[in-house]
Amino acid sequence: MLTGAGISAESGVPTFRDSDGLWEGHDPQQVATPEAFEEDRALVQRFYDARRASLARVHPNAAHRALAELETVLGDDLFLVTQNIDDLHERAGSTRVHHMHGELLAAWCQACGHRMHWDGTLADEPDCPGCGTAALRPDVVWFGEMPYGMDEIHRALFSCDLFVSIGTSGVVYPAAGFVDYAIAGGSETLELNLERALNSDFHLSRQGLATELVPAWVAELSSAVGAPG
Ligand code: NAD
Repeated sequence: MLTGAGISAESGVPTFRDSDGLWEGHDPQQVATPEAFEEDRALVQRFYDARRASLARVHPNAAHRALAELETVLGDDLFLVTQNIDDLHERAGSTRVHHMHGELLAAWCQACGHRMHWDGTLADEPDCPGCGTAALRPDVVWFGEMPYGMDEIHRALFSCDLFVSIGTSGVVYPAAGFVDYAIAGGSETLELNLERALNSDFHLSRQGLATELVPAWVAELSSAVGAPG
């Protein structure tokens, strides 16, 4: 299972491909690359500080909650990978979320490598609690960096029975290629999205709002596997 920005859109977290290719007024290349961070560290820190602060104003929606319920039905048979850096899956109740692009609520020290939960600001360049150096960056994966947990993700893609992609445009690689790995491994594939993704290799595709499509699909699957409710 792969989720993208579209699952959080109805919670009020903007996606970045829907309108003009901007992410909250910024070209993603200006705020989400290592080069951008080197060039204008303060701008990038402020951008992520604002995203982190905005989490307090948004809440999980029915789609996040349905996936948390699905975890209670499927347990370890559900492997949930998200491209999102928000924490809405966890706040809905999901306990095993693989954040392949990192998390807004985490920081990473470029001096000592320490990674930590972080809910404050970084633009004020605080010292790392581990080594005392003011070298913290958001623990998010920028364009050109290697997403987290790819070995485990590939193993899951090649061994799953069903790969479901929710609210993702199929533009950002490597996630955009997951459907092809799943097909190569013999999996069925289903897309739940507002519109057909650019990569339309899915066996089945349903278009609509995540808050409608996801609870309906989870209800169907739960009844098919004989879960109560
Ligand atoms: P994207 O912005 O490229 O695409 C979003 C997709 O969701 C689009 O195909 C759109 O049609 C669909 N969508 C929009 N509203 C929807 C709704 N209500 N229901 C169902 N589908 C809906 O997002 P992406 O494919 O996830 O890739 C974007 C990258 O940006 C990721 O790397 C991610 O890390 C980052 N990002 C994250 C967040 C977040 O954490 N919530 C938000 C914006 C961008």
